[in-house]
Amino acid sequence: MPDLAIDVRALTKSYGDVHAVKGIDLQVDAGEVFSLLGPNGAGKTTTVEILEGHRKRTGGEVSVLGHDPGKGDRSLKARIGIVLQETGVERFLTVAEVIDRFRGYYPNPRPLDEIIEVVGLQEKRDARVRKLSGGQQRRLDVAIGLAGDPELLFLDEPTTGFDPSARRNAWEMIRNLKQLGKTVFLTTHYMDEAQNLADRVAIIVGGRIVAQGPPGSLVGPDAAKTAIRFRLPQGSPTLPGAAASAAAITGEQVLIHTADPVTLLHAITGWALDNEVALGELSVNQPSLEEVYLELTRPKEEADP
Ligand code: ATP
Repeated sequence: MPDLAIDVRALTKSYGDVHAVKGIDLQVDAGEVFSLLGPNGAGKTTTVEILEGHRKRTGGEVSVLGHDPGKGDRSLKARIGIVLQETGVERFLTVAEVIDRFRGYYPNPRPLDEIIEVVGLQEKRDARVRKLSGGQQRRLDVAIGLAGDPELLFLDEPTTGFDPSARRNAWEMIRNLKQLGKTVFLTTHYMDEAQNLADRVAIIVGGRIVAQGPPGSLVGPDAAKTAIRFRLPQGSPTLPGAAASAAAITGEQVLIHTADPVTLLHAITGWALDNEVALGELSVNQPSLEEVYLELTRPKEEADP
């Protein structure tokens, strides 16, 4: 397997005069979970469909597992798995029967019981598809994507509509895929999902990549600062100088962004002890991927050519 599962250079795609993808570079290492994030219409589906070989590019170079997906090479198709938002399957078959049917389409399918275990459907092995919950059906979609034992799996919004515990289970399933050495290309609108699962993310806006790297390393223009939050009871004395000048106060809520949290916290907590002020709900946070994302995807005033 090449070290890079996906290598994209200067990719462009236009639909007539709509320039959906405007020259992007993307590298995905073999064995990593990579997440492509971006607002509606940013160019995610276009990019993913080009990688999957379902759409022709306008320009640039694309290599997936060492092949150009634009050439429709059958041997490449057997090495990638695609999990779309909805897979139409025969609802009167059982889970095992459905997976087995798809296994039959591939030269080297993954053993049935292993697939069922990876997706956590052991207890539903003999249940009919129509009796599965929504979350269980999504797991079955992933199981189908694994039927041919692909090296690279494309997962399109795998947890949309899940309740919180079903999402945690699905995350566990995606971690299982990584353990198996699979490369996972994940599109999601949930930032916490990307933050928890992805080794690296890329954020695409208006057909251009605006940030790429491990989720914790991405830094937006104003997001490099630690956020200190607390509740200041009414009638409290004025905050010490450095805190007062940086604080955004809404009612009792105080929010301070700082590049030097240690010094500022020392000043604030010392002041609170001296003045016997209770700092309610005190929290100190790094900017989340969601904050960085919102910062980077905020619409600009000027038009993008
Ligand atoms: P979403 O999050 O809403 O699914 P996306 O990031 O996947 O969005 P794309 O579907 O790739 O975005 O669309 C990118 C741009 O290309 C949009 O402006 C869209 O209207 C346009 N577009 C997509 N497919 C076509 C098409 N077949 N013909 C013309 N324009 C298209």
